[in-house]
Amino acid sequence: GTFLTHSRDMGGHEEEGEGEEYLFKIVLIGDSVVGKSNLLSCFARNEFDNNSKATIRVEFRAVTPAYYRDVVGALIVYDISRRSNFDRIKRWLDELTTHCDTTVTRILVGNKCDLENIREVSVEEGKSLDEEEGLFFMETSALESTNVQTSFEIVIQEIYTNVSRKAL
Ligand code: GDP
Repeated sequence: GTFLTHSRDMGGHEEEGEGEEYLFKIVLIGDSVVGKSNLLSCFARNEFDNNSKATIRVEFRAVTPAYYRDVVGALIVYDISRRSNFDRIKRWLDELTTHCDTTVTRILVGNKCDLENIREVSVEEGKSLDEEEGLFFMETSALESTNVQTSFEIVIQEIYTNVSRKAL
């Protein structure tokens, strides 16, 4: 579909544990201009400030089947001030289902929650979609650093839990 050609971005995240190294591929998807690159740089900056050992590798590329290869986590992003972005979330979810394993940890992210005065999508709508689709859900602001760290951490924690469970 043509909607894909306008979107890009990928975040690779490397996490270092107690003597063990994990490389998790996490992607940010969603329409253009919803704030994917800002969310990623906000997360990366905070990780850096916290003196974390995490290495963030950022790559920008077209969304192709290769983009989804080995993905274990996804942030599906919309802009709360743009109804059209929210309306296309289902298409992004279908896209993930087509290319990825069903075990991919998914979080729905309603970004730009600082734009309360021009909000077009309510918190309740986000919540009901997450319940319907069995996703995590969070509203964020990359501009004000609200819930950005938490959103990534929810995904990373869940992935880590799944990895540990498999190792048992
Ligand atoms: P992408 O195309 O999805 O990667 O979007 P960008 O990260 O490039 O952001 C697109 C535009 O939205 C830029 O002008 C950002 O400054 C703005 N933006 C991103 N995140 C936020 C946010 O949380 N709040 C507000 N008000 N603007 C944001």
